[in-house]
Amino acid sequence: MLHEQPETFAGTLVEPRAALTAADPEAATILAREERRQREGLTLIPSENHAFPQIRAMLGSVFADKYAEGLPGRRYYGGAAHVDEIEDLARARAKALFGAEHANVQPLSGSPMNQAVYFGLLEPGDTILAMDLSHGGHLTHGAPVSAMGKLFRFIRYGTRPGGSFDMDEIRAVARRERPKLVITGFSSYPRDIDYAAFRQVADEVGALAMADVSHVGGLIAGKALANPFDSGFDIVTTTTHKTLRGPRGGLILCKAAHARAIDQAVFPGLQGGPHMDHVAALAVALKLIDTDAYRAHARQVLVNAKALAGALTARGATLVTGGTDNHLMVVDVAASFGVDGAEAQARFDRVGLVANKQVVPDDDRPAMRPSGLRLGTPAVTTRGMTAAEMDGLAELIVATITQARPETELRAQVQALAHRFPIPA
Ligand SMILES: *Cc1c(COP(=O)(O)O)cnc(C)c1O
Repeated sequence: MLHEQPETFAGTLVEPRAALTAADPEAATILAREERRQREGLTLIPSENHAFPQIRAMLGSVFADKYAEGLPGRRYYGGAAHVDEIEDLARARAKALFGAEHANVQPLSGSPMNQAVYFGLLEPGDTILAMDLSHGGHLTHGAPVSAMGKLFRFIRYGTRPGGSFDMDEIRAVARRERPKLVITGFSSYPRDIDYAAFRQVADEVGALAMADVSHVGGLIAGKALANPFDSGFDIVTTTTHKTLRGPRGGLILCKAAHARAIDQAVFPGLQGGPHMDHVAALAVALKLIDTDAYRAHARQVLVNAKALAGALTARGATLVTGGTDNHLMVVDVAASFGVDGAEAQARFDRVGLVANKQVVPDDDRPAMRPSGLRLGTPAVTTRGMTAAEMDGLAELIVATITQARPETELRAQVQALAHRFPIPA
């Protein structure tokens, strides 16, 4: 007699957490500590978030065990029917959400994602115009310490003292240096970007225009911020684990004309087998983002950032550019409270608030002890906080930096707030 095979895969029959604890109690304990740290603290790092809980069913699933070098329909391995289905789903959803002609969902993270664009569309030594790290740009935008900074000729632009871009200056630099690629995008810039103005500069010198929206990809997909494709950009890159709330990874969106070059730069240019469980999780995140609930969340992230920036300013904080249009802000803690960013970060850590030190434009302090502290609202908004909570949060932030109350008391107050707003599970 033939037995029906059970539908469940053998590996998923055991409750995975119980199996982990039995097999490796030491590692399981460390995991439990990290869960507790996240549960009892508040993440204010603008590039961090709490991923959609549903994606964890895909992360580490049997897709992780599958080699899938190549693209759907053109793999180098057999057994690819279902990885093809899931990658096609992720690509279609990404294109629809961002209004892109082509998507590559395989970059293992944000850095290889940007490298793939450079290697796909340029030759080593070509000139790229991008934002300076100390003004809010990213390492992969040609910081001298990055490999990309050595392989390509990066010319960097900054912001004016008030924080705006001097487009006349950027245009003049572009005319002089003739870049092949103009990049806009940031890791620490609290204002929205005039994409049309950058597109115009690129057009004037015959360059491609790329927006690295790693921080705000979710907010753009959620229609809370402008989409660079609406201004005719050629390439948009984004990480998938920040505001997008998906798995750690990178996503390259581009015009059809660049599809082949970029796909080949990702594989075989820079990577081997894609992490298919991440691709599968990304497919799920992209569905969850295409909902009214997420679009409301994206708007709330911005509302909360404005409220937090206002409440911090009212309590004596000086913010770089004087405020925020997006999800993040940089407090000049040195100018406001006479404490450097590293010390403020350490005081935060001891009470369960989590942020990171940050250089401010033309900082006169060293990068390990900069003047700023970077804060963002994505993670606390994911936990359900609204503008009503931002004044209390600002009070806790300033009290922590200025040591207005004992740390044990501050820690208890942070925990109480965290308990009221649990991480979605
Ligand atoms: C976070 C970020 C990246 C890189 O992402 P990783 O996943 O850390 O490699 C690239 N560009 C920008 C603008 C970012 O903010």
